[in-house]
Amino acid sequence: MIIIKENYSIKPHNTLGIDVKARYFTKTETLDELKEVLEGYREYFPFLIIGEGSNILFTRDFNGIIIQPAITGVTIIENDSEHCIVEVGAGENWDDFVNWSVENKLGGIENLSLIPGSAGSSPIQNIGAYGVEVKDVIHSVKYLDLETFETVTLLNHDCQFGYRNSIFKNHLKNRFVIYSVVFSLCHNPVFNTSYGNLQAEAEKSGELNLQTMRDAVIRIRRSKLPDPKVIGNAGSFFKNPVVEVALSDQIRVKYPQMPSYPVSEEFVKIPAGWLIEQCGWKGKRTGKAGVHEKQALVLVNYGDASGTDIYDLAMKIRDSVFTEFGIRLEPEVNII
Ligand SMILES: Cc1cc2nc3c(=O)[nH]c(=O)nc-3n(C[C@H](O)[C@H](O)[C@H](O)COP(=O)(O)OP(=O)(O)OC[C@H]3O[C@@H](n4cnc5c(N)ncnc54)[C@H](O)[C@@H]3O)c2cc1C
Repeated sequence: MIIIKENYSIKPHNTLGIDVKARYFTKTETLDELKEVLEGYREYFPFLIIGEGSNILFTRDFNGIIIQPAITGVTIIENDSEHCIVEVGAGENWDDFVNWSVENKLGGIENLSLIPGSAGSSPIQNIGAYGVEVKDVIHSVKYLDLETFETVTLLNHDCQFGYRNSIFKNHLKNRFVIYSVVFSLCHNPVFNTSYGNLQAEAEKSGELNLQTMRDAVIRIRRSKLPDPKVIGNAGSFFKNPVVEVALSDQIRVKYPQMPSYPVSEEFVKIPAGWLIEQCGWKGKRTGKAGVHEKQALVLVNYGDASGTDIYDLAMKIRDSVFTEFGIRLEPEVNII
């Protein structure tokens, strides 16, 4: 049944904990309900689709309808000796699904443990952590096309996945609602321990297996990242910039210790957190908004910061990084 809430605070629906109101808010538990709201409630538009609000900064009230696709279900649709193909409803919590995969001895997403958000959002920015991106295991994405009102299944190679990027952030922007994602998990996982001290951390609990990998990732993340239930945040606020080698060489004259990772012969990726830290922002606070003391890439809400408090701080950070390094940081968080 469709329940429309009016003048509804979405503070519990965004991990930054910004207290703004939606003129209308609803959850849709089936594809039919989703279609019904999108077709039958046009007088409530504009609309905004949200998952668990862990990658959104609201800077003002939303004068329209916020729709949360709460379609659930984890269904095995194919299973052979190597792979298990699983369809997951958009409204399933991502980490619950990772936990399900580990309990069922299916590999591929254990390194993506504890990333907040819903399964339905995972392809949009191609979530990634500890050397793995979700594109590595996505078989296809099922969405409702908002122009044709047809359901579409987009295979992995048509999703144009890139670093924190996909067709959903570009060509299909504002034109789709994802209702399920199909993953191809494997029965004989090859563990990716390339990232930092992951292998050593996993081996602390015994042999390397899906559960020890998941536990290690969770321990590392908890030691580094603030828990949004305790202190409002949206994870990395900016993307790591990809710059020309010539620019990074130029910066390295003044900052010989600058970390960078090759992307191609011409481009390197520089950790945005390092750039922000060099500009003196780590641990800084302006009123109720601040930069986390352990991780300069994470902006935090120390209390009842408004969305514009966070936004203004982000823009000051962006400007100072540009002044010092000539690099313009791009937000990873979706700003509404
Ligand atoms: C503490 C913390 C740590 C994080 N760590 C990581 C990390 O390691 N790696 C990483 O990649 N990300 C990370 N993130 C970011 C975040 O977890 C991901 O971007 C996640 O996929 C967002 O999911 P969500 O359901 O909360 O999406 P939301 O924030 O609700 O939405 C994100 C965007 O997707 C759109 N959207 C959501 N659902 C749908 C749908 N079904 N159909 C169409 N559009 C939709 C929204 O309109 C919005 O534009 C972190 C966030 C936090 C708070």
